[in-house]
Amino acid sequence: MKRQVLAKVARPLDEPRGPDVIHRLTVPASWFKDGACVELELPRNLSCAVCDGGGCEACGLAGAVSTRGRAEPPELVQLTLPRREPSPEAGRSTCVVRLTGHGGLPPADEALPRGHLLLYLSEGEATPGLVRLEAPCEPDEVTAAAPGSLRRVAAALVVLVVALVGWWLLGR
Ligand SMILES: [Zn+2]
Repeated sequence: MKRQVLAKVARPLDEPRGPDVIHRLTVPASWFKDGACVELELPRNLSCAVCDGGGCEACGLAGAVSTRGRAEPPELVQLTLPRREPSPEAGRSTCVVRLTGHGGLPPADEALPRGHLLLYLSEGEATPGLVRLEAPCEPDEVTAAAPGSLRRVAAALVVLVVALVGWWLLGR
């Protein structure tokens, strides 16, 4: 019985999916210290996580993997940085954050989810395209990009629902 439960937990990461990709970012030490929420514009082509750009079977020997179609708008990804103190050797220590569903596209003829996005984070000047957000990330931490206006509408809806629930609770 227990084994089944464990299998359930482990499964999503290993399910068939598109190719995993690697993206390396440098992040100011102060952002790490604060555990800040950051947003990055995901490049359309990233290194294959299996061969790190060298070319292998997973990426069709290309070394690079596409994360969106040519015509699709840039994808914005949010994440909360792992909180940690500045390292004495700036740029040396790297941590890896895995975001599911933000990696490479599966083959066009297969109905699979996208691969994982492996973010290699090290200290340094912020990588271009990486911005720190003032507010904490949204609760699920990883949000596929919606146009700014859509996101504002979604935020307003959340506020409205919270207000309504609060009003309902107070009214009981
Ligand atoms: Zn490869």
